Amino acid sequence: MRRKLAAGNWKMNGALSAMAEVQAICDAHPAPGVDLLLCPPATLIWPMASMRGSHPMAVGAQDCHMAAKGAHTGDIAAPMLREAGATHAIVGHSERRADHGETSATVRAKAEAAHAAGMTAVVCIGETLEDREAGRTLDVVGTQIAASAPDGATAANTVVAYEPVWAIGTGKVPTLRQIGEVHAFLRAKLVARLDDEGTGIRLLYGGSVKASNAAEIFAVDDVDGALVGGASLTCADFSPIISALE
Ligand code: PGA
Repeated sequence: MRRKLAAGNWKMNGALSAMAEVQAICDAHPAPGVDLLLCPPATLIWPMASMRGSHPMAVGAQDCHMAAKGAHTGDIAAPMLREAGATHAIVGHSERRADHGETSATVRAKAEAAHAAGMTAVVCIGETLEDREAGRTLDVVGTQIAASAPDGATAANTVVAYEPVWAIGTGKVPTLRQIGEVHAFLRAKLVARLDDEGTGIRLLYGGSVKASNAAEIFAVDDVDGALVGGASLTCADFSPIISALE
């Protein structure tokens, strides 16, 4: 039985003042019936992990470097993020694939670096609108998952997030049938490659999830939670999404 996961990706948003929102989220869900994860900008990992105290919410990074240390100005290695309090690292978000030219091979190396640091990798994949309209969605996400997820992926160290690029931050959401089709396809791929671990890996949907659509998306087979961007920034928006999963 896969435990549901409500994950928030703050992207390049948030400041120390936003810790009040985190406190409010923790207070609203003192003993959450799902796993909770918030991924703030790197500068807020330590403050968020400190503020959380003994609350079970996990704190994650939005990226990590593939090397454990070295001459990589401006980058942050997985062991450093782990030391700051992050137990998870998002890798391969479409914004990083687009803004930084990250390939699936890079993403896989980053996931392996996260694993080596004892962290869970949240591996993101998803098709563009062009792919979707050309009928290539399953080909694209199948290729991405094969190349982005490491062989050592287990239910404990890996989460996969399906995020159609055209649904991110746009208010557009695939139909429930489209979400179900991709999640069933990804589940079959994971099981074929990783056996029982593939059955246990959580598959999140991401892209314009909000309070008003969360419950119906979470009712789709093989949707084990959500990776939420904009609607994870405030307690008012994120709390109902968490409740919809509980
Ligand atoms: P959104 O972003 O919820 O703001 O669409 C999702 C994501 O990019 O993870």
